[in-house]
Amino acid sequence: MAVDNTFATPCLQRPLELGCDIVMHSTTKYLGGHCDVIGGLNVVANEELAARLLSLRSATGGVAGPFDAYLVLRGVKTLALRMERQVASAAAIAAWLEQHPGAGAVHYPGLESHAGHDLAGRQMDGFGAVVSFVPDGDVAAFMNRLGVFSIAESLGGVESLAGHPATMSHSNLTAAQRSAIGIDDKLIRLSVGIEDIDDLMADLDQALAAGR
Ligand SMILES: *Cc1c(COP(=O)(O)O)cnc(C)c1O
Repeated sequence: MAVDNTFATPCLQRPLELGCDIVMHSTTKYLGGHCDVIGGLNVVANEELAARLLSLRSATGGVAGPFDAYLVLRGVKTLALRMERQVASAAAIAAWLEQHPGAGAVHYPGLESHAGHDLAGRQMDGFGAVVSFVPDGDVAAFMNRLGVFSIAESLGGVESLAGHPATMSHSNLTAAQRSAIGIDDKLIRLSVGIEDIDDLMADLDQALAAGR
C-alpha cells in the first residue's frame, strides 16, 4: 500500500508506522517549505522494496540535482517549527471562516463538522495547514482582492497561497468528475503560511466583503 503523505508531512502523520509500504512526499511542498524547489521522494522500511525502487530509479533516471537536494535538506531543519505555526494558523482561520457570514461550507479536518475529524484525530498529530471553503459572493472578486495571500496552485510554503481548484489545480477534470469528488466550482483552497494571523484574517475579511 502506497500513501501520498505530502499534505500531512512526517510531523503530523507517519504512514509506515500505520502499516503502509511506501510513503510518497512532494518535497516541493512542506519539506522544502519555501516554494523554491521541485522534487519528490518515496520512503520505505523494507530493503527488498528499496532495492526495487532504486533499480527503477536508475533505469528511469529521475534524480534530484545537488542544489535541489540541499534546499530540501535545509528546509527540513525548520519543518517542525513551520508546521506548528502553519497548523495553528490554519485551525484558527478554519474556525473563524466557519462563523463568517460571507463564507459557506468550510473544509478542514480539525473542525468537528468534517467527516474525517475523528479518524484524523486518531492517526495524526495535527490537522494540517490546508483549508478550503466556498465563499458566498463572487469568486473572481474575492481572489482579485487578496493581497497577503498570493494566487498560486502550490502549497506548503512559508507564504500563504490561495487557489481556485476548478480553474487551476483540478481544471483537468470535467465538471462532473469534480462534482463527484466534492469540488464545488466556487471552492477556494488556502495554504496557510507563517505570516501574522491578524494580517491573514484581515486579508480574507476584506476580500470576502469585496465579493458580496
Ligand atoms: C504537489 C503534489 C504532488 C506533485 O508534486 P510536484 O512536486 O508538484 O510534482 C503530488 N501529490 C500531492 C498531494 C501534491 O500536493
